[in-house]
Amino acid sequence: MFCRECGTEVGKKVKVCPNCGINPLHGAKHCQACGANTKAKQELCKKCGAQLITKGAPLQEEEAPKTAKAASFCMPVVGVILFFIWHAKEPEKAKSVCNWTIGGVAFGMILYVFGIVWGGFSAATGY
Ligand SMILES: [Zn+2]
Ligand SMILES: [Zn+2]
Repeated sequence: MFCRECGTEVGKKVKVCPNCGINPLHGAKHCQACGANTKAKQELCKKCGAQLITKGAPLQEEEAPKTAKAASFCMPVVGVILFFIWHAKEPEKAKSVCNWTIGGVAFGMILYVFGIVWGGFSAATGY
């Protein structure tokens, strides 16, 4: 078979391509059956008709930047806006921003409840 990353011919049980150093089936640039060029989301080889095999983690989407997470944590409104901006094109980013927004809201609520309890406590003890 051929390395899907660089197109070098490798043995069937080879786990790491000797030419490019990655798992031959983790690439998406060449057909594993004939070595022809393929595109990232292609499923069948146009040259030989083989079903293209892609193993390993799917292409990771970028996570939301730290500043965006921090902003949505401190100001949930920002998180909600970012979520709506990202949720169509970059669901992964939107999801992480959403988690941080929820975290921020929960944290705010805890502080709020603490404030009430503390306020009640001070009132009861007279301090
Ligand atoms: Zn290779
Ligand atoms: Zn092929």
